[in-house]
Amino acid sequence: MAGHGSVFGAMLQEFEGAARILNLDQGIWKMLTHPRRQIVVSCPVQMDNGEIEVFTGYRVQYNITLGPAKGGIRYHPGVTLDEVSALAAWMTWKCAVAQLPFGGGKGGVICDPTKMSRRELEALTRRYTAEIIDAIGPDKDVPAPDVNTNEQIMAWFSDTYSMHVGHTSTAVVTGKPVEMGGSLGRREATGRGVMISARESARYLGFALKGATVAVQGFGNVGAIAAQLLAEEGALIVGVTDWQGGVYNAAGLDIPALQAHVARHKTVAGFTGGEALAAADIFGLPVDILIPAALENQITDTNAGQVKARLVIEGANGPTTPAAHQALHARGVFVVPDILANAGGVSVSYFEWVQDRHGYFWSEREVNERLETKMVQAFDAVLKTAQHYNVDMRTAAYIVAINRVATVTRMRGMYA
Ligand code: GLU
Repeated sequence: MAGHGSVFGAMLQEFEGAARILNLDQGIWKMLTHPRRQIVVSCPVQMDNGEIEVFTGYRVQYNITLGPAKGGIRYHPGVTLDEVSALAAWMTWKCAVAQLPFGGGKGGVICDPTKMSRRELEALTRRYTAEIIDAIGPDKDVPAPDVNTNEQIMAWFSDTYSMHVGHTSTAVVTGKPVEMGGSLGRREATGRGVMISARESARYLGFALKGATVAVQGFGNVGAIAAQLLAEEGALIVGVTDWQGGVYNAAGLDIPALQAHVARHKTVAGFTGGEALAAADIFGLPVDILIPAALENQITDTNAGQVKARLVIEGANGPTTPAAHQALHARGVFVVPDILANAGGVSVSYFEWVQDRHGYFWSEREVNERLETKMVQAFDAVLKTAQHYNVDMRTAAYIVAINRVATVTRMRGMYA
């Protein structure tokens, strides 16, 4: 599984760099580099044409030392067990960096949601939930949205689980609609955390967000909100791309207008408020800040040399390969790693879980204030660690995370 070129292999390489610096003992090293549980399920679904399709689904609980597994579910044709395992590991480190009482998990279903009807998506979601039902629960494993999943899918997930256990369980999943126990501010939380990471980094590097130029790859829940909030801070979002193309405007794109275009056309391509931009050209734009907010393995050793930004904020999970990261760091590019930069989403998922368990809900202002505190604390802890060990921010984030998980692993001791 950890073969060369695999996403899990990339995660291991990142882990090893930090574990070596920490002089991590071999036993803990082994425990932290093996997924605790990997579940593979087959989900039969009757499609609208009457035929039965069988979809393969995964749920990986990478580590549950600090608490229930936590992490999203992704629907994508390219999902593999290798990828889901890496994403579950990244959730483990992300929750530890953000000091959340959670382990890390991730789910994925191999499917193409763009080609499925609403009824088919509901049937798939319910069957996938039913297939993994013994492994999930508010104290066991708490899923959430990820690529191509949303509040509606979480609503079906929560309903299926609730029907199974015979009572309404809100805390089994986060990222739900607000009406059924979701948290205010959750939808915007990952993008807001990305904005806060950019703001803190710019402050540290000594430039202002106001007037800074930004390129964003991916205009989904993360990229679109990050762009919107950065624009509200006075930054100029000059380039945005998604898998179908992109737009460029040196004077800054009108983000609300771009969001309205995407709501209608499902892509940024064709937006008339700028010139057309090829998807691959986003990385070489002459900008201050580059935000990869799509999928893993986007900045590689072949295009890392094109990057002109001085700051890269990883909105996606794993967008930069280890080789590309080294190249960027060697050139002095300040990279804020995924497990810190996009931790805002899971942080507000934690707030949602806490609110559900208390049955007492916070105002959006309270949620945003607590998110602000969490992100700034996490950023400061990682920056201090980077300075202390004289390492890049990614290695520092891993050092912080590994230290926290390893400490509790040692404290709890060995069971049998
Ligand atoms: N899918 C998001 C992530 O990768 C959020 C996970 C969660 O809220 O549990 O961080």
